[in-house]
Amino acid sequence: MFSRDTLFIGGEWVQPSGTAVIDVVSPIDEEQVGVAPAPMRHDIDRAVAAARDAFDNGPWPRMSVRERAQYVLQLMKVLEPQGQPMVDLQIREMGGPRKFIEAATLAPGLNAICGREISAALSLPTEEIRSGIAGKVVVTREPVGVVAAIVPWNGPIVMLILKLLPALLTGCTIILKPSTETPLSAYYLADALHDLGLPHGVVSIVAGGADIGEYLVSHPGVNKVTFTGSTGAGRRVASICGGLIRPVTLELGGKSAAIILDDADLDAYLPTLVDCALPNNGQACVATTRILASNRRYEEVVERLVASVGSMQVGNPLDAHVEFGPVVSARQRERIENYIQIGRNEGAKIVLGGGRPEIARGWYVEPTIFAEVDNAMRVAREEIFGPVISVIRYEDDADAVRIANDSPYGLGGAVFTQDYRRGLAVAKEVQTGTLQINNGIRTGGGGPFGGFKESGLGRERGIEGLEAHYGLKSISFPPGVEPGLVFN
Ligand code: NAD
Repeated sequence: MFSRDTLFIGGEWVQPSGTAVIDVVSPIDEEQVGVAPAPMRHDIDRAVAAARDAFDNGPWPRMSVRERAQYVLQLMKVLEPQGQPMVDLQIREMGGPRKFIEAATLAPGLNAICGREISAALSLPTEEIRSGIAGKVVVTREPVGVVAAIVPWNGPIVMLILKLLPALLTGCTIILKPSTETPLSAYYLADALHDLGLPHGVVSIVAGGADIGEYLVSHPGVNKVTFTGSTGAGRRVASICGGLIRPVTLELGGKSAAIILDDADLDAYLPTLVDCALPNNGQACVATTRILASNRRYEEVVERLVASVGSMQVGNPLDAHVEFGPVVSARQRERIENYIQIGRNEGAKIVLGGGRPEIARGWYVEPTIFAEVDNAMRVAREEIFGPVISVIRYEDDADAVRIANDSPYGLGGAVFTQDYRRGLAVAKEVQTGTLQINNGIRTGGGGPFGGFKESGLGRERGIEGLEAHYGLKSISFPPGVEPGLVFN
């Protein structure tokens, strides 16, 4: 059991205001993983007050980017020895496969993210002198203030880190809200932050549900919201922020397409194709759950997908050989099974799975492949967020692009081809935030990450993600005055 009885508010361990707890049950075996205190609204008030005070009165926003980057580097050092226990606890909490959770948690991956964010932050000047209409203009980038960051359960630690880094590097203060499925692993991050000696109030981590999330998003002490989760919840958060004229970044759902051009080398890239479609037990926002295959190669693609996915081991994801664990909750399994039934009713053909594997306890679903799917079917239009793939036919490249774009979403995507010029031409036509060609890196490979259409608003990561944490100010000088001389 991994249980805690305190909350991490303003960098300190404090007693919760109430007595309610979040009980975490593992999707692997339905056993209790541990308990964490459930915050009351008063606890959110305390976290926002601490962040507000640190931002308005503390040294944090006035430090240089370089000084704050030292804290970030130190954080990675403190976290590194905790890598494996953090991996194990996340798997226990949400059932993700070990390979996926390790890649998202252990030092090489996190250090790469961190290094990229630091160099992007150092490359963005916080003050520049420009030539204006008449005279010079000093343009400053100033931290936007107190950030409320809400994350889902499907990559517990990396999601928190991706919200934390830009806030810290730009001089913002932040309240992180993990979801109720994964409150426990977040304590590793809180422990590391506690040891770091950040100024009081800079970071709080308070796990809670939608009610606590909404209270935080609408809190008068918050300056900016960054939300990752479903499009439904994102719509609600956006409407609250719209009413308050509060800047908001939204990373939402997807129904991405992998386009297999008819020259694709499946011998080389079949494992990549499967990994794109079904990462994290099919629970990834960028999963390419629509696979578009040309009429010429349709049967071959279906056959090879069935052989490859059908040979994958389903079971306890703590075992390194297991490629498919359970889905996150009983409710989510019910939702996925309901979609499988909808697909059957719509006339799609199940060519793999469709049921439950023979595992006595836990919330397992067989990896499922639908063939002969029409893009108008609900299984092709709605985000299922589980291990269910739809294979859709197309005529030619233009038809593939048309089908890929015929979606309310636009988050990820992939193009498989031996001709990179043709692949790029197709990729440029797809209305989506990120694409990989063959085994290029998922989620943009280090470029800006975010969605078109109902997949989100704004971008995270790198320069664009940092810019979203700055407010811009233009200070205009009379003609002939050199601002540099004024400062001297
Ligand atoms: P969810 O929307 O139910 O919850 C996400 C988070 O938002 C949780 O912390 C939850 O407590 C909180 N929340 C829910 N309603 C809220 C409200 N009204 N106000 C404030 N906070 C609220 O999603 P989930 O089931 O946890 O995660 C799966 C979804 O997340 C999928 O749709 C997936 O595509 C999406 N996702 C998107 C990205 C991305 O980067 N675009 C990454 C991962 C997951």
